[in-house]
Amino acid sequence: MVVTSPSLRACVYGARGSLPNPVASTARYGGATTCLGVFTPDGIPIVFDAGSGLFDLGLELRHHKGPRELHVLFTHTHWDHVLALPFFEPLYDPSWTVHLHSLRGRLDPVRDIFVGSYGKRYIPVPLEQIGAKVTVHELDFFDEVRIGSSTVRCCRANHPGYALGFRVEHGDRSLFFASDAALFEDMLFEDRYHTRQRETCPEVLEEMRGLQQRMEDLVRGVDLLLFDANYTDDEYEALFHYGHASMSHAYDLARRCGVPHVVFWHHDRGRTDDEVDAITKPYVERGQQEGLVVEGARQGTWYELKL
Ligand SMILES: [Zn+2]
Ligand SMILES: [Zn+2]
Repeated sequence: MVVTSPSLRACVYGARGSLPNPVASTARYGGATTCLGVFTPDGIPIVFDAGSGLFDLGLELRHHKGPRELHVLFTHTHWDHVLALPFFEPLYDPSWTVHLHSLRGRLDPVRDIFVGSYGKRYIPVPLEQIGAKVTVHELDFFDEVRIGSSTVRCCRANHPGYALGFRVEHGDRSLFFASDAALFEDMLFEDRYHTRQRETCPEVLEEMRGLQQRMEDLVRGVDLLLFDANYTDDEYEALFHYGHASMSHAYDLARRCGVPHVVFWHHDRGRTDDEVDAITKPYVERGQQEGLVVEGARQGTWYELKL
């Protein structure tokens, strides 16, 4: 239930990677793809990604008491992060103003995806049916967006086809979210398809160090880190060219940046709840020794950061 309160609140509406997989074996962590809802005392919903979890968020917003203005910011436009956009109820309600924010001039901008997803080949509802006032904004890698009295600070995330990570700040509270993001360690992802070759060029490695630093500058000191942890260490060794981080990467990033709570995001599409429990457990236990709260992102979980 979406309510306003003197807290920075966040809810996991979906954290599955690549493909919705809502079956019995994924019921606890959830099968909906990426959608994070952030709610500030201003009452302006800030939504990250339009994976299939966005549908539920749209239903909850029927009862929204705050301003009828909301923002959807896209990490990137891979299928699992945009697929619920035409099923987002506020788009069909003329009382809402919906702002869509995505990376400028990279591959398919969200404007094209938004308009294109209404083609009659895909859905019977015509674009003209939308009643909300929709505005599309383009972001650069290191932009800042002011939303009410909150600030969203962007950074480049390392993922094929480019992506963004986001730090949300409200008063003294903050969180960082990056759903599809390898560390800037083994290769620099741009818009080409990568083969399995680690980067060796000194100039590119230097650029990667700078980009990693800029991301860590935004992660440092947040209250809550929600970060790509799609892979185990072994899977990462085999699949690093797909641009996802491992659980070790997310854990170490939190430790390096003085974060007290890390949430592993983007559960591999075929991973069962029991498997998520098993591979997360060593990090949960290590975190207990080292003062870091660790958990797998679980659909329906709320985080409340009191101001
Ligand atoms: Zn994804
Ligand atoms: Zn992706």
